Amino acid sequence: METKRLTPADASDAARVIRCGGLLGIPTETVYGLGANGLDPAAVGRIFTAKGRPQDNPLILHIPSADWLERFCEDIPPQAKTLADRFWPGPLTMILKRKAIVPGAATAGLDTVGMRCPDCAVTREIIALADVPVAAPSGNTSGRPSPTTAAAMLEDMDGKIQAIVDAGPCAVGVESPIVDLTVTPPRLLRPGGVTLEELEDALGEVAVDEAVRRLMAPGEHPKAPGMKYRHYAPKAPVTVVKGDPDETAGYIAARMGEASGVICFDEYRGYFRGHPVETIGPAADQAEQARRIFDALRAFDHLPVTDIWAQSPDDSGIGLAVTNRLNKAAGFHIIELG
Ligand code: AMP
Ligand code: MG
Repeated sequence: METKRLTPADASDAARVIRCGGLLGIPTETVYGLGANGLDPAAVGRIFTAKGRPQDNPLILHIPSADWLERFCEDIPPQAKTLADRFWPGPLTMILKRKAIVPGAATAGLDTVGMRCPDCAVTREIIALADVPVAAPSGNTSGRPSPTTAAAMLEDMDGKIQAIVDAGPCAVGVESPIVDLTVTPPRLLRPGGVTLEELEDALGEVAVDEAVRRLMAPGEHPKAPGMKYRHYAPKAPVTVVKGDPDETAGYIAARMGEASGVICFDEYRGYFRGHPVETIGPAADQAEQARRIFDALRAFDHLPVTDIWAQSPDDSGIGLAVTNRLNKAAGFHIIELG
């Protein structure tokens, strides 16, 4: 099939793709998503096929405003309103109990559903015009880094989807945090643009799922099913080095091989002359690192590198999301200095 390139002016064409059961590349503030009618099991099934996504990995339902929650969720706790008032539209997904109208195909059979209202006006307009929630995971082939531009999504999805709406590069760059509100205290299943610190400020105590910081053993079942899969990975193996940036740069420079690639902060490019280098922004600018991390990981698939070394930010603020994606790309192959 030929994938149509749409612009934000084409919202009604895009809504028609959703209404007709097709697949649509949607921009959001986090990453580009692979959207379909979330109430139509056949349309939802096409998402899994296009991505090569395991059937037990549920999708997130995207809605244009918080007042749609009641159509699809029940037993909604007061924290959901607190979070929606503070952070929606925005990079935050809440896990709530689903109503029967939400097909098991979208939730991998779970009785809960992930709900999000994205901070992207054209996407909210498309969903409102389609008048159905849009189920969407990230728009990459399963296992690859998530796409933060329409061009990156087309690398994986050109010819597999009806259309994509190009609204420019994503402002946040890592997927939304996922907070499970069906448990007490609320539990962070995946870190993202709304930070753990902001969630604690809004909710009080927030538990952090173990899968955020460590590798799940075979047979272990994390609460966010997606967290058990190898993810975000470029073709070459990745080693993450944590610690003071001066030290991590020196450590990598001393150990890298002839054909190693490096992901580093802007200030450290000079340590790795003669090697393929992807910078992710200044060491102190974690928001920029979030915007660029997936592009950096993707870039190495076009370069002849044997392995990749990466400087890692610390875990504060959105750094927790950046380190989580890097660690997963590295299969949790992490070296901690100091
Ligand atoms: P993606 O945006 O591609 O990362 O996919 C959506 C993510 O949301 C996956 O990691 C899912 O495992 C997670 N997710 C979606 N629905 C639920 C749910 N009901 N409970 C827990 N995790 C969920
Ligand atoms: Mg994904």
